[in-house]
Amino acid sequence: MLEPSTPVQYVKGIGPRLAEILAAKGLHTVDDLLHYLPFRYEDRLNPRSIAELRAGEMATVIGEVRTSGLFRTRKMPIFQLTVGQGRARLKCLWFNGTYLRDKFQPGQIVALYGKVEDDRGELQLRQPQFEILGEPEGDAEQKASESLEIGRIVPIYESAGQGRLTSRWFRRTIRRALEDLSPEMPEGIPASVRKRLNLLPPREALWKVHWPDEGESVHALQSFRTPAHIRMIFEELFFIELGLELKRREQKAQTGIAFDLTDQVRQAIKKILPFHPTNAQKRALKEIASDMEKPFPMRRLLQGDVGSGKTLVAFEAAIIAIENGYQVALMAPTEILAQQHYFSARRILEPSGYRIVLLTGSLEDDRKREIRRHIAQGGAQLVIGTHALIEQKVEFDKLGLVIVDEQHRFGVLQRFKLMKKQDARPNTNHVGAAALSRPEQRSAVSSAAELRSARQPRAAVPTQIDRTDEGARASTASAEPDVLVMTATPIPRTLALTLYGDLDLSVLDEMPPGRTPIVTKRVGDESSEKIWQFVRQQVAAGHQAYVVYPVIEENEESELKAAMKMYRELSKKVFPDLQVAVLHGRMEADLKEQVMRLFQQGKIQILVSTTVIEVGVDVPNAAVMVIEHAERFGLAQLHQLRGRIGRGAAKSYCILMTGGKVSEEAERRLDAMVRTNDGFEIAELDLEMRGPGEFFGTRQAGMPTFQVASLTRDRDLLELAKKEAAAVLSGPNPEISQLDIDRALRRMRTKWQKTYGLVEVG
Ligand code: ADP
Ligand code: MG
Repeated sequence: MLEPSTPVQYVKGIGPRLAEILAAKGLHTVDDLLHYLPFRYEDRLNPRSIAELRAGEMATVIGEVRTSGLFRTRKMPIFQLTVGQGRARLKCLWFNGTYLRDKFQPGQIVALYGKVEDDRGELQLRQPQFEILGEPEGDAEQKASESLEIGRIVPIYESAGQGRLTSRWFRRTIRRALEDLSPEMPEGIPASVRKRLNLLPPREALWKVHWPDEGESVHALQSFRTPAHIRMIFEELFFIELGLELKRREQKAQTGIAFDLTDQVRQAIKKILPFHPTNAQKRALKEIASDMEKPFPMRRLLQGDVGSGKTLVAFEAAIIAIENGYQVALMAPTEILAQQHYFSARRILEPSGYRIVLLTGSLEDDRKREIRRHIAQGGAQLVIGTHALIEQKVEFDKLGLVIVDEQHRFGVLQRFKLMKKQDARPNTNHVGAAALSRPEQRSAVSSAAELRSARQPRAAVPTQIDRTDEGARASTASAEPDVLVMTATPIPRTLALTLYGDLDLSVLDEMPPGRTPIVTKRVGDESSEKIWQFVRQQVAAGHQAYVVYPVIEENEESELKAAMKMYRELSKKVFPDLQVAVLHGRMEADLKEQVMRLFQQGKIQILVSTTVIEVGVDVPNAAVMVIEHAERFGLAQLHQLRGRIGRGAAKSYCILMTGGKVSEEAERRLDAMVRTNDGFEIAELDLEMRGPGEFFGTRQAGMPTFQVASLTRDRDLLELAKKEAAAVLSGPNPEISQLDIDRALRRMRTKWQKTYGLVEVG
């Protein structure tokens, strides 16, 4: 009898050797194996007769092998197979099909699946998927097992181990595992939810997802929307959302700082504003301020497309904390960005007398020590820095607010490390050292009792917070600072629901006034001369330009050369009379800073760069962005780069230059860029094209991957899961029984934590 937790090697037909192949695919237990779902299904109940095939359709054909052979053409070897049904024949072709040479014998029964094509009046299948179903003189056992392959809807699995474990192998092995599975399948989903959504029991869902009933709609199967699919996908998403919801409530139940929003604070905010905030900025600030007033820690995500003006909102929030006598930490993903924030903070905030420091990794040790002391003694009110802030030990006297800019660069894991560090410490809050050591794994909620208190956050904290200075000081002894996370990546809603399911969301959906939309054009690099001429005109009109070269890894030798080489060419040959400078990740921090400052001041006219300028850089006078080898950049990256321009009143131009071969995918990316400026539209497309795992590129650590769910396909179920997870935990009489809670938690701790351990760190 198999249990879900039994290692796969004990399933009949799998030994230690095959178990290794499965392990490489992430399949360790019987449960993993049973969640290895077919990626499509073949309707072999009603296979098509050759006579009724139509060109252009996808079809499954079952026939008998007549002839086969390898033909060599001048270009490549082609393998040809002819199958028959009675007198009808069908030709199948595989290019470079040498590997098929000894595969087929006359008389075998084969199933073929592929696109029907018309070859000068004759129908054929090109490169079909195939399966040999029976030998001409098969033995009895084989005949019996043919019933798994013919005359029904058949599940098709991705093969593994370089084809050693075929779809057919999976079909049989998974079936055996299902047959031997213990009849006691624990049900994790609370009864109320199950009833409301009419979900199949787990065992039945497992059977049917692998072996659908005869009458099941093939369309529903292919789109993963049979009741069995829905149950399995919902189950996975439900536990993730339940965990995130529990975590959210747990965070809210902790003691935070109740900042005071006095008239004096309001005046201080008004005083710094260099322009009228947009309505979106006003709304976001209101949401943030209202969080900050509450005695619970704020955990809020401020999302807004590039250029929507997040920095100003962050500064306003900082003022609330500083005016209340607290310190603020502002973290940026790159030194350039930290520096830029430092400059604008000084410009905007220093006139009001706030004390601001910049702490980055590249500072001299002495200087660093000195700054840290200044921070520890409470002298610095706004601390701006890079990761150095969390990577090294920084002690705050009285940390009240942490702002994390351009969150998508940090990765999920890091975000939680930082928050973890805000854990209660008497009087001082350390950010660092321990943050790097792996925080102890603990479940989102370790007991039902904790869950109960999480459900009623208000009961867990004092209802009345003493607003006097004394009181505030006393209450901070174990208070968590507020956290504001900002991102310019317009995360599609589905992703935000999972990645940031534990944060509250504010959105800047409006651009500051006076911007003209950016014109985006695509050209081949044979037109570069014309482009340089255009750049020259723009510079003559008083604007500045970026010219960007692709980089995969910032320190990759070959890429640096590309930017450097073009810098030499552009500065010496093309624009010898203009101020041209170069910026890349390998330069000394001082030099980078100097270049950025000169560019900001307009003393550099053309900045040749790698993607170090991708995020956050703000020079409103820059009106031209030329991206060479645009075909090599991801969609999100292109959008980020384009976000560097169009920040002032002048009309801006983004020129996507391509050189060499442009793949079909790249073609779609470039089209999208030319078609729209809307970051959300671009993000949706990006997610669709790349899949969530790669959505943020390699820098994004800890992106959850799913067993059966897909973020692009299953948006509807994700929303549903989130709603249901919130519903079962809400209200004075939650509709979830203690028994169900315990079961759900047990279930979450074993399965969910194993798979999504990262999400619940801290
Ligand atoms: P992002 O959201 O990409 O971080 P920034 O905060 O860098 O955007 O702001 C982009 C530009 O818009 C900056 O030059 C900033 O000074 C300007 N800006 C921000 N808010 C407003 C506003 N309400 N009115 C006019 N300009 C604004
Ligand atoms: Mg920004």
